[in-house]
Amino acid sequence: MNVTLQNLTKKFPSRSKKGADVVAVDDFSFEIPDGKLIGLLGPSGCGKSTTLNLLSGLLKPTSGRIFFGEDDVTQLPPENRGVGLVFQNYALYPHLTVRQNITFPLENRKGKDRLTRRQREDMALEAAKLVQIEALMDRKPKELSGGQQQRVAIARALVKMPRILLLDEPLSNLDARLRLQTREEIRRIQRETGITTVFVTHDQEEAMSISDQIVVMKDGLVQQTGAPQAVYDDPKNLFVAKFLGTPPINVFDGQVQNGRLYIGSEAVLEVPGVSDQAVTAAVRPEGFILSDTGALTCRLSGVEVLGRDISVVSTHERCQNAAIRSIIPSQCQVGGPAVRFDLKPGKVFLFDAAGNRLF
Ligand code: ADP
Ligand code: MG
Repeated sequence: MNVTLQNLTKKFPSRSKKGADVVAVDDFSFEIPDGKLIGLLGPSGCGKSTTLNLLSGLLKPTSGRIFFGEDDVTQLPPENRGVGLVFQNYALYPHLTVRQNITFPLENRKGKDRLTRRQREDMALEAAKLVQIEALMDRKPKELSGGQQQRVAIARALVKMPRILLLDEPLSNLDARLRLQTREEIRRIQRETGITTVFVTHDQEEAMSISDQIVVMKDGLVQQTGAPQAVYDDPKNLFVAKFLGTPPINVFDGQVQNGRLYIGSEAVLEVPGVSDQAVTAAVRPEGFILSDTGALTCRLSGVEVLGRDISVVSTHERCQNAAIRSIIPSQCQVGGPAVRFDLKPGKVFLFDAAGNRLF
């Protein structure tokens, strides 16, 4: 089922008497396609959880509307929306077994929706199988690892066969290896069930790796939406360019003159169509080509071995990053003290003083 967010705004009253309202979500419009996984991405405090809670019904918007398919659910309480929710802290009932935790959302169904105990347990087993914890049904939460607990929480969210699944930083409490494994699992489950899913994270790599589409937010405002690769390859503004990618993008103070980008005194790239002005030039780590006659001269600080590639670490007085990281095939020879690069045009983005894309 596709989900439509229409001009959604959520304001919280200021904590001090005279202060301005906090606009946690600012005029958010987006259509989540049926059966897709959307990664809602941005730094802490940008409005991700508020957006998710508006979708779940735990919060009511100040203005704007939400549709599940054709249904306007804006005024519908959470229990009538058919959403499955998973939070960062698993919030399992400690005194209940895994089975009882998973069946819990099914207990209070009344009238024609009432389920027998047998039906509830069958449904719980189905959900448990999806997340591969069917062998742990009689355990209590404290007898499970963090990863297993989070799977129980996911099974509990799935057992109702929700219309949409909402996950708020579900992997944050897991160690690095489990985080990777569980995110792949979430992706698999999402594909298998075809449930429209919103996955909230501040971790760009996590969002990029599992989402069909990402929504990048900052200060309550949507910055850019699109397929992960498309947003990475074509960021609309400096914030998005800097937020996506590891190692991070390399940001230089530059100048455009007669259709050429200058960094310091060196002309490093043809940038036809850009008028003469001071610019911020951002270069992806894979946008550097090592060359003895390269246009951009940096000071070599070291080389980090990554296996297939190496990361050449260097500095430049016009670079805003403490160190420039460029990803180079490992067969290249690097010697100091200077290292020279040519730049790949598609990997260099220019921004004006306000951070908007020029090139
Ligand atoms: P995120 O999940 O992206 O970290 P949140 O959606 O939790 O961000 O918060 C967005 C902004 O709204 C923050 O500035 C936060 O302090 C504020 N905020 C969130 N919930 C409340 C609330 N109940 N009352 C007042 N301000 C809130
Ligand atoms: Mg949050």
